[in-house]
Amino acid sequence: MKLTFWGGAKMVTGSSFLLENDAGKRILIDCGLHQGARYCEKHNFEPFPLDPASIEAVFVTHAHIDHIGRIPQLYRAGFRGKIYSTPPTKDFAETLLIDSEHILSVEARELGMPPIYELQDINETMKLWQKVSYHEKIETAGFEIEFYNAGHILGSASILVKGDGKKIVFSGDLGHPVTPLIRGREEIQEADYALIDSTYGSRIHEDQTKRKDLFEDVIKETIKSGGVLMIPAFALERTQELLYELNDLVENGRVPRVPVFVDSPLAIKLTAVYKKYSKDPIYFDEAAIESLRAGDAIFDFPDLHLTLTTEQSKQINGIAPPKIIMAGSGMSQGGRILHHEKRYLPDPKSAILFVSFQAIGSLGRRILDGSKKAKAGGSPKDFSVKIFGEEIPVKARVLAIGGYSSHADQPALLDWLRSMKLGLKKVFLVHGEEKEMGPLEDRIRDELAVEPVIPALRQEVIL
Ligand SMILES: [Zn+2]
Repeated sequence: MKLTFWGGAKMVTGSSFLLENDAGKRILIDCGLHQGARYCEKHNFEPFPLDPASIEAVFVTHAHIDHIGRIPQLYRAGFRGKIYSTPPTKDFAETLLIDSEHILSVEARELGMPPIYELQDINETMKLWQKVSYHEKIETAGFEIEFYNAGHILGSASILVKGDGKKIVFSGDLGHPVTPLIRGREEIQEADYALIDSTYGSRIHEDQTKRKDLFEDVIKETIKSGGVLMIPAFALERTQELLYELNDLVENGRVPRVPVFVDSPLAIKLTAVYKKYSKDPIYFDEAAIESLRAGDAIFDFPDLHLTLTTEQSKQINGIAPPKIIMAGSGMSQGGRILHHEKRYLPDPKSAILFVSFQAIGSLGRRILDGSKKAKAGGSPKDFSVKIFGEEIPVKARVLAIGGYSSHADQPALLDWLRSMKLGLKKVFLVHGEEKEMGPLEDRIRDELAVEPVIPALRQEVIL
């Protein structure tokens, strides 16, 4: 059996791994977009390492673009096999691929290149895509494949592949054993080789249990001061987690009722997928299932407004504070949140709450860093950021809550490996930057007595 690292090697994005069995049959696990400063990095414009027509099937761990974003390009380059994922992953993928088509074409134009695919390729790709449940075994070209819950986002999976008498597990992006909304990740008992997500290989996350109390405090304070609470949030998973927590806080009277807006067409479409699967206990955690059984629509509460159209979005301005606005993008790199930030960042009664990691260079990071600097200087003086070409003074409170990560931290990653450590021959560290991998590599060697490997891009390994 030969394994080749097409992406996700010494980098977080571009997840893609090729397996070729002794009979020469090939399958691909994920086919993600390489992302960085650009949504679609230059690397994506290079041809695939081998003829995509020779690949029998693609197995998809989950719907984030850095795991699915090149599948329509694979189709365009001749792939005609089947694509398999869990049902929510397929639904999310269709929405996210269509949503990303515009930015792909804009960026391709900037680079003077043709787009890597067009709408027609997405439509044809979706025709090849089959839905499979967790633990439904798929046999194809001498491989046997099984999806396990990865607890990262709704429908996310780790994929166990058996072939040539060997067992290889691809973690996908791994979440926590216990999560606030979706069902926690499963353990896998036996594997000879594991590829593990090392996005947060060096870190230990902030305590998850406190975050809801912190969220409650932030809401209460902003309502009390009569301001606007702005929450830049990623459309997939983070928005639904916040809605689920808000649902509980509002319906149990822990926070006063004020208008809450989800001002993101993408988040609204993706929330509809969560609602679609919310009847199925395999996807959600016990508390969420209990609420659902009791008849609570967990993403719906009084005074919640989903603003799909631009017209509806503009009407938010006319609603008097206090109010809560959740919108994309999660790092304030674009999207409707910018309009609200421009309007309310200069307001000292308002607040902006960050619930995700803010990458260097993003507007979100500039707001966070600016606020830290202003506070450290002991100066009450505010600072400013540029939005739509205008200098906007930041007088609103700047807040951040950790503990909302949907990636496992170092102890949780080691735990996942521990359940299969007896049979493990090698662990390949993927989806991470080298500075995150080093500390995880040491712990795997020292604590689990298993050989860790940090593969290079395009590296081939015989298993
Ligand atoms: Zn992911």
